[in-house]
Order: sequence, then C-alpha cells, then structure tokens
Amino acid sequence: MRALRLLEWKSEPLLTEVDEPTPGPGQVVVRIGGAGACHSDLHLMDEFEAGVVPWNPPFTLGHENAGWVHALGAGVTGLEVGQPVAVYGPWGCGVCARCRLGIDPYCENPADAPVPGGGGGLGLDGGMAEYELVPDARHIVPLPDGLDPVQAAPLTDAGLTPYHAIRRSWPKLPPGSWAVVIGVGGLGHVGVQILKATTAARVIAVDTRPEALRLAEEYGADLTLLSGAETADEIRRITGRGADVVLDFVGADPTLRLGAAVARTVGDLTIVGIAGGTLPVSYFSVPYEVSIQTTYWGSRPELIEVLDLGARGLVRPKVTTFALDDANTAYQRLREGSLEGRAVVVP
Ligand code: NAD
Ligand code: ZN
Repeated sequence: MRALRLLEWKSEPLLTEVDEPTPGPGQVVVRIGGAGACHSDLHLMDEFEAGVVPWNPPFTLGHENAGWVHALGAGVTGLEVGQPVAVYGPWGCGVCARCRLGIDPYCENPADAPVPGGGGGLGLDGGMAEYELVPDARHIVPLPDGLDPVQAAPLTDAGLTPYHAIRRSWPKLPPGSWAVVIGVGGLGHVGVQILKATTAARVIAVDTRPEALRLAEEYGADLTLLSGAETADEIRRITGRGADVVLDFVGADPTLRLGAAVARTVGDLTIVGIAGGTLPVSYFSVPYEVSIQTTYWGSRPELIEVLDLGARGLVRPKVTTFALDDANTAYQRLREGSLEGRAVVVP
C-alpha cells in the first residue's frame, strides 16, 4: 500500500510503498477514510530534531484518523468489519490508572506505551496511508450515525483538543462571560463552534488572516479582530473587564502576550499552540488568580462527546479534501496559510 512517510527530521515526507499491516492479537486494522493534516505535523517536519520528543522517524504521518474496520486481530470482540470508526490518537500503556480512565495523553508508564507520549502518526505509523494498524482495540471509537469519516477525522484532534481545553474552563464560561480564541485555523475554527455549542460565552476570534476571521464569523463568533498593536486594548474596551477565558491556538510570543494582556481576574489563559513562544510571568504581571495552563490532546470519553456534537451538526469542521498523492500539497497550503479550516487526506 502507499503511505506518506517522514523518513528523517527536517525533511519533506515521501509517498512510498510499504507492506499492508496485519493485526496481531487485540489489534485492529482500519481502512482510512480521512486523515487530517495538523499544524503539529509541520512542527515535526520543519522544526523537530532528535531529542525534542522521545521517538524518531521513520513513520507514516497522520494522527487524526477515521475510516472503517478492515481486519480484526484474534480476541477482538464488539467490532465488525466495515463498521465506520474513529481512531483515538494518543496511545498510552493501557494499564495505568489514567489509561484505564481513558486519559492516555497523561499515561503514567510512557515507557510501556507503544511509543512514549505519541501514537499513530507521532512516532508510529499513522493514517496518511490506505490502512492504519491500531495496536489496541480500545482506541477504536465507533462513529455515531450521521457522521462520515471525512468529518470525523478532524474531530479526533482539531475537535478533541479544543473540546478538552474548553471543557476544563466550562465553570468560567457562564452567560455574560467572554472567551477569546486566538488563531482560527484547524483547531481554532472548531474551538469557536464548541464554545458556541457548549457554553453561553460571547466569543471574540483573533487571527492575522481575514479569511480565517470570515470563517470564525460564519461559525458564530460574536466579534472578529485582525490581530495588531491595538488588539489587546480593543478586547479590553469591548469586554469591559477582560476575557474570562483565552484559548491560544498559536503559542507564539505575540499571542501569549496578547492572552496575558486581556485575561480577566480569575480568568484562564490556556496555551494549546506549540509555536514555542515564551511568556515571562510574575505575581503582578497578570490579574489576580489568572490560571495559565497548557493542554495536550484529550480523553477518550471527551472524543465520544465531541463526535456526538459532530453527528448532531452542532460542530462541523470546514474540510478541504486532498488525494494521498497530493498530501504534500495539503501541508504546503497549511504552511503558507492558504487553507480554511482543516485539510483532510482521503486515500
Ligand atoms: P493552523 O495552521 O490550521 O491554524 C493556526 C492559525 O493561527 C491560522 O489561522 C493562522 O493564521 C493563525 N495565526 C498564526 N499566527 C498568528 C498570530 N500571531 N496571531 C493570530 N493568529 C495567528 O494550525 P492548527 O492545526 O490549528 O494547530 C494550531 C497549533 O496547535 C499548532 O501549534 C499545533 O501544533 C498545535 N496543536 C496542539 C495540540 C495540543 O494537544 N496541545 C494538538 C494539536 C495541535
Ligand atoms: Zn495534531
């Protein structure tokens, strides 16, 4: 079968021929119906080098996958060949307390996981291929009626990651509150929809690209702002007292500064983007009791919840599809900022 593989750090991935996987005991092979192209993959291929993460190339890219059950390993029950499924992407050890709770990203025995702190497309072979081997059937989540794999794929990361980040801030988003979304790309445009679908907050979306702001507006942002020198002042003027929750889907120096400048007393500043910016913090540099936190992906129960929002049409990723042959074009478009929403590769 064909697969888009990262063969070494700081290189362009190559479409190559590899053996079709066969499932061992307890494993499942998924025929891929959609594999999302995440900005994290650009960090991987453009910036990462040995030692940044505890795994190395070569591996097949694609950590945001959905499709149909293709083959079941010995002992796997409760799934049927042909059934539409999503792949829960973070793969922990499976036996520690957190994995048993379905929170694999924070696995307590990463050394015993299939790959420490990663998953398919992040150290192990992912979904930018005709088939993906999923090493444990517990990572297979059946799709609810009404959701196809092309829509479901982005929900497994571009949906799950903002859902997790927003969910932990729910108590701070009652009617009358303000949420600020910085960066309305793959994750951010789903984040805007999740805020509107699950909270009563008013949403301000900020981006450097007018097209991204148009998308935010289409998905229900109450206000959109092109980011610039005046953005923090504008947000303070509009909200009166600052934002209850800021979600930074970029994580660069200027966006972190903006987040810290607009967060309200007892607000949350949640850093999701991994652009590598830093934010000097001291006691009086942010309002009292602002929580500054990072998030990593989300839990399996949260994936089930976000798929439900997708199936009910409350959250609809804006998808542009690409053939596997054109996967590198999808990444190039993501890199140059000429995509709206998410690119999904359909092998
Ligand atoms: P994307 O490229 O689709 O979207 C990024 C958006 O941010 C774009 O719309 C871009 O125009 C905008 N942007 C860039 N610089 C900006 C600035 N200075 N001010 C305002 N807007 C700006 O990327 P994505 O796939 O949505 O991923 C976003 C980030 O989240 C990446 O860093 C990615 O690696 C990271 N990520 C983190 C997790 C996690 O678990 N923490 C999971 C997935 C992705
Ligand atoms: Zn990702």
